[in-house]
Amino acid sequence: MLDEINKIKTEIEARLSEINNADGVEKFRLEFLVKKGSIQTLFDRLKDVPKEEKPLIGKELNILRNFAEENYNLFKEKFEQSRETVSGIDLTLPGRKEFTGSLHPVIQTMREMNDIFIKMGFSIAEGPDIEDEYHNFDALNFPPDHPARDMQDTFFIESPQKLLLRTHTSPVQIRVMKGMKPPIRCIMPGRVYRNEAINARSLAEFHQIEGLYVDKHVTFAELKGTLIQFAKKMYGENSKFRFRPSFFPFTEPSAELDITCFLCGGEGCRVCKHSGWLEIAGCGMVHPNVLKECGIDPEVYSGYAFGFGIERVTMLRTGIDDIRLLYENDVRVLEQF
Ligand SMILES: [Zn+2]
Repeated sequence: MLDEINKIKTEIEARLSEINNADGVEKFRLEFLVKKGSIQTLFDRLKDVPKEEKPLIGKELNILRNFAEENYNLFKEKFEQSRETVSGIDLTLPGRKEFTGSLHPVIQTMREMNDIFIKMGFSIAEGPDIEDEYHNFDALNFPPDHPARDMQDTFFIESPQKLLLRTHTSPVQIRVMKGMKPPIRCIMPGRVYRNEAINARSLAEFHQIEGLYVDKHVTFAELKGTLIQFAKKMYGENSKFRFRPSFFPFTEPSAELDITCFLCGGEGCRVCKHSGWLEIAGCGMVHPNVLKECGIDPEVYSGYAFGFGIERVTMLRTGIDDIRLLYENDVRVLEQF
């Protein structure tokens, strides 16, 4: 038995001197160190060794196994390192993750809103961001002294035509009504600008989506039905809504649409200012003066209009509670959507 142990030790030394790569290390392990390897085979035979020789043989076997294992570990370390640093590239470094880009959450929301309205028969209309006072205010029945015309609320551009950055997407309504004959059924998504202090709830630049439907016999009931249909698609069938009377110069009567606060479920919280409701849209029947201004006879035609703030809708869907986060372009925020 001792002879055999010595023979295997000699074999081990011979093999070790031949190892020159990681494959050699693995071969060595398979030959000597696995369960069916030659060292374990000797251990298995230990039970047949005469009792008085057992301690000595056992001790020698342990020495042999330790010798093989220690050398195996040394070679393994050596060749693994050399394999991993082939031509100076460290192959043990974790791979670089491929990031796939995605659309900005505001754009995602806008497209989803567009899709719902398109399925309801609306088409998309667009207009310029730089408008004149006529399209932005006059034609929309804003009186000359209306506070929205104030420099405090509107970015005017120094120009002889009194140009401004549009404060809402409603001037597109004027352009559409002047360019088309009823029936008109359009939505008008786009960017708008207000001279407002920037805080968690408002920005100087944001997005709206406005809708307009003009035809014979258009009623307020249709407006309600359309908006509730839309809002259920957007926020879920079980959402609850209410219409509240409101005022806009370009609609009469006017209303605002509220949804049950999804954070507190209507109990009242900081986000809904403890009312249990969140405003999501302004709407109303197109004012006869606006129709007249666009050459549409208000005795024959009627229409409704509505407008959503896209950022607000995005915040409701994503749970982002500070509007500024949408525009800081922090990848940690954006990559979540
Ligand atoms: Zn709430």
